Amino acid sequence: MDFPFAPPVPASLPIRGEARRFPVHRVYCIGRNYGEHVREMGGDTARSTPVFFMKPADALWLESDVPHPGATSDLHHEVEMVAALHRGGRDIAAGDALDHVYGYGVGLDLTRRDLQNRAKADGAPWDSAKGFDASAPVSALVPAGVCGHPRQAALTLEVNGALRQQADIAQMIWTLPEIIHELSRLWTLQPGDVIFTGTPAGVGPLARGDRWRAALGAIATLEGRLV
Ligand code: MN
Repeated sequence: MDFPFAPPVPASLPIRGEARRFPVHRVYCIGRNYGEHVREMGGDTARSTPVFFMKPADALWLESDVPHPGATSDLHHEVEMVAALHRGGRDIAAGDALDHVYGYGVGLDLTRRDLQNRAKADGAPWDSAKGFDASAPVSALVPAGVCGHPRQAALTLEVNGALRQQADIAQMIWTLPEIIHELSRLWTLQPGDVIFTGTPAGVGPLARGDRWRAALGAIATLEGRLV
C-alpha cells in the first residue's frame, strides 16, 4: 500500500513480562459508574442507561511526565480500572464477557472539568473535555492469565502523597461484564479495544508539578507527574 505520507504508528500498550505489545483499536469510557462519584457530581444514582464516551487511541499516554493540555483552568484526575479486550463481537452476553478480556491496568481519565461542565450545560459533546492529547495516562497491561479477573480490588489515587480517591472495584454500578455487554450492543467490539471503567469519588484538580501514584490492588500501579 502506498500513502502520500507516512501513516501514523498504531497505538499500543506494553504488556508486563512480555516483549510483545498490545495493539490498541479504540478507547471506550463509561461515566457515572460509582455511586459516591455520581453524587459528588450532583447526579442521580438510579441505574438506568450507562453513559459512554470515547477517547482517541493515541490519547493513551505511557510516559511518566504528562503534559498539561492547556485550555482549562480545572484539569481533574479520575483514577480508573482499565480492561483490554483480545476478542470482539456484537451482543456479547455478560456471562461470556470476561472471555473477551486480555488483561487489566490502571489509568487516569484526565478531564477538563470546566469544559465538561459547559458541555453538559449546553448539551454539547465532551470531546474537548475528555479526548484531548495525553488525556489517558495508563499503566502496562497485566494479562488475566497472570492476575485473573479481579472482582474485588482496591482502586486508589494519591497526589503528592495524599490519598485523593479510594474505593473497591466491587462498588462499580455496572460491572465489567455488564459494561462489555452494553458496549457490544452499541458498537462491534474489536480485539484491541480498551475500556476505562469509571472513577470513584474524590475527583479533583491537578496542577503542574503534582505527582501521583495510582494503584489497582496489587495488580497494577501508575506513577506520573503533570508538567
Ligand atoms: Mn472517567
